[in-house]
Amino acid sequence: MTTTHYSKMLKQIGGKPGKLAKYNKHNVPRKRKFGKELKKCRRCGSASAPNAMFGLRYCRQCLREVAQKIGFKKFN
Ligand SMILES: [Zn+2]
Repeated sequence: MTTTHYSKMLKQIGGKPGKLAKYNKHNVPRKRKFGKELKKCRRCGSASAPNAMFGLRYCRQCLREVAQKIGFKKFN
């Protein structure tokens, strides 16, 4: 069975402590030290197109929307 987030399964398993322990052992995601999962957009949370430029942690779509509020100037 697949879900969008692992914690959704916890509601279904809740009343069964044995199943819960087994589920936690095998399915709870680890804390990551590096990788794509950590480089998410801080505005929308997408991991698809992070823009590391200037250390702002916006994706390219959000950077385009927010740029002028932050202080980027639009030429031409
Ligand atoms: Zn974004």
